[in-house]
Amino acid sequence: MKDIILETGSIKKQVTLQGNSEGLVFDNVGELIKAQSLGVSYTANFIDGGFTLNYNIYGTLKAVCARCLEEFELPVNISDIKFYSPETQEINVSEQLREDIILFIPQNTLCQNDCLGLCQICGTSKNKKACGCNDKPMDPRWSKLKDLIK
Ligand SMILES: [Zn+2]
Ligand SMILES: [Zn+2]
Repeated sequence: MKDIILETGSIKKQVTLQGNSEGLVFDNVGELIKAQSLGVSYTANFIDGGFTLNYNIYGTLKAVCARCLEEFELPVNISDIKFYSPETQEINVSEQLREDIILFIPQNTLCQNDCLGLCQICGTSKNKKACGCNDKPMDPRWSKLKDLIK
C-alpha cells in the first residue's frame, strides 16, 4: 500500500485533518491471511499537549482456518486513538494501521470457535461430515509401543 504520512505542520495550521482511504492492502500480516481489502478513516487533531490520531479500520480479511484449512472471511472493525508529542514532525498512519491489524489477527485464525478441523486419518473436514474414522488420541501408555513399530 502507499504510505499515508501526515505532516504535523499542516495539522497545526488546520487543527483538524481528516481523510479516508479504501482498498488498503497490507503485506506480510500473517501466513493465514490471503487477501484483504480494508478501508480506513482518520482524524488528526492538534491539541495543547501534542497531536492525536483517531482512526477506524474496516473491511474484511480473507483468512485460512488453522484447523480445517478452509478460507473464510474475517470481519475487521478496529477503532483506536494514538497520541504524539508536540515535537513530532510527521505521523505515519500506515505504520500505525499495520501494527493494529497484526495485533487484531488472532494467533489461531478459526472459521468458527468450535471448528472440528480435519480428520487425522482421512483428511475429511469434520465440519462437513463424519467420516467414521477412529482418530481418538491414543492412550499415552501406548505411544512408546507405537514408536517401536515405526
Ligand atoms: Zn475451520
Ligand atoms: Zn476420517
